[in-house]
Amino acid sequence: MENIISAEIEQYIAEHSSKESTTLSDLNRETYIKAMMPQMLSGQVQGKFLEFISRMISPENILEIGTYTGYSAICLSKGLKQGGKLVTIDINEELTPMVKKFVTLEKMEDKIEVLTGNAMQIIPTLTQQFDLVFIDADKNNYSNYFDLVIEKVRPGGWILADNVLWSGKIISNNMDKDTIAIDAYNKKIQQDVRVENVIISIRDGINIARKIG
Ligand code: SAH
Ligand code: CA
Repeated sequence: MENIISAEIEQYIAEHSSKESTTLSDLNRETYIKAMMPQMLSGQVQGKFLEFISRMISPENILEIGTYTGYSAICLSKGLKQGGKLVTIDINEELTPMVKKFVTLEKMEDKIEVLTGNAMQIIPTLTQQFDLVFIDADKNNYSNYFDLVIEKVRPGGWILADNVLWSGKIISNNMDKDTIAIDAYNKKIQQDVRVENVIISIRDGINIARKIG
């Protein structure tokens, strides 16, 4: 992934932000050793940001679409209200054992439910009302995920979508398929009167939408 912000600024930000826990740094390391495309992992700075967002909201129910190796799930779970739960979905069953191992090491097995399968099929079966949704799976389906979750988000609740600047390709005039899908998502969110939103340029860009009401 290309940095949107200069590498020097990214490094300064990392050096002046709280370090990750030992478990998260082990998970980070194991992801780089064992998984494909390890740069997909949120990492220290974005992980702390997601943790803080969650702590500010103090959600009872979080939905994460796109677990990968569990880094962002663990970070988001840190802000759950007592007794709250995070449900996370990933289609890649090869990663499930690793996710569960680190969830247990972080002593979060009571808080995190790991679901394996296609999110497009699983989301319609969920009956919770969500305070916070983190969309971070296949970019092609971002708009579909929004459509599936919007009625499951409480009024005043939050929908975050990751990688919405797509390494800066979002302003290219020669967009590939994923870039087109992400651009369509950003435009859809901005036009949908049920939400207001802001895009922030942390890491690869996060689109933060708040359901009005
Ligand atoms: N949230 C993670 C990174 C997620 S990477 C973090 O920040 O650390 C994107 C993940 O989406 C991959 O693990 C991929 O397997 C998953 N994915 C892709 N298509 C999917 C689908 N249709 N349903 C569920 N998960 C999907
Ligand atoms: Ca991501």
